[in-house]
Amino acid sequence: MATAVEKALSRLERPLLPLISLIEMLYLTGPFVGIEDLLAELPADIDTNGCHYDNPAALLNAELDILREIEFLKNNTPLSYLIVDGIGGECPRVEAVELWIAQGVMARELEEINSLLCGGRGCDLCCIGPKSRSRHNFFDIPLEENELKGFAGQRRVEDMDGDIYAVPAPLLDGRPFYQSNAPFLLRWRRGWSMVLPRQSACPNLADNGFCAVYEQRPAVCRKPQIFPYVLEEDGRDEKGEVPRYVGRRKLLAVWDCPYVREYQAQIASYGELCGMEPVFKENKA
Ligand code: SF4
Ligand code: SF4
Repeated sequence: MATAVEKALSRLERPLLPLISLIEMLYLTGPFVGIEDLLAELPADIDTNGCHYDNPAALLNAELDILREIEFLKNNTPLSYLIVDGIGGECPRVEAVELWIAQGVMARELEEINSLLCGGRGCDLCCIGPKSRSRHNFFDIPLEENELKGFAGQRRVEDMDGDIYAVPAPLLDGRPFYQSNAPFLLRWRRGWSMVLPRQSACPNLADNGFCAVYEQRPAVCRKPQIFPYVLEEDGRDEKGEVPRYVGRRKLLAVWDCPYVREYQAQIASYGELCGMEPVFKENKA
């Protein structure tokens, strides 16, 4: 039976996006009313862009919630977002929908691949505060209200004024809020944060290096170290009616993560198969 890493590498070798690009083209040029009409006519397997897909209809059915966006192009439904290019020009509708779908499909796929690569590895880099000489003073783990129960017994400070990244840093007990010996929970106007000061560890990090609440870990801890940067959020459109995005067509990978270093070639190849420029960057140095 394939290990988690083997499963992740096989998915990196065969991303969904080449298949989805083919399906978008077939849908837009064919007589199909809904996307399911097309899926019903797909063969048992498909080869495209050097990738082989068994049972493509099943693979695509799992992405229907995102893929359905393409139907808006045929029935002239207004899009619920504006996508511009790097110099501010509005992208044509077909390109905007293609980018929107790519961002959604890659985000989901990479979250699953990241979990396979990270889970069970025993790496705690995402769970500890900055090193003593880091340029960072603290790390922030944003938490939803319903995630606080996973941090029972931790010191809580409520109703902190200002912004967590303000310069100079907001004061707590007369000194910058992050100057503490231990992690603590802090509520800003925008919501809760678990603040990890320098050389501290998340209270859920067990002695064996694994997360004690792994299956219930906060949403932010599930965020991947390889993620799509197909679209960049850029406020609202001029009338303030819909969110605006800039099309970037990039794949970002955080170089601090050991599996990103180990599988750099496979990650770069995944990005290229998806038509995205792979960019490796350091985060926590
Ligand atoms: S909750 Fe778990 S995964 Fe998240 S930072 Fe703490 S130990 Fe790490
Ligand atoms: S750095 Fe990578 S391997 Fe380490 S905990 Fe974070 S995601 Fe997992």
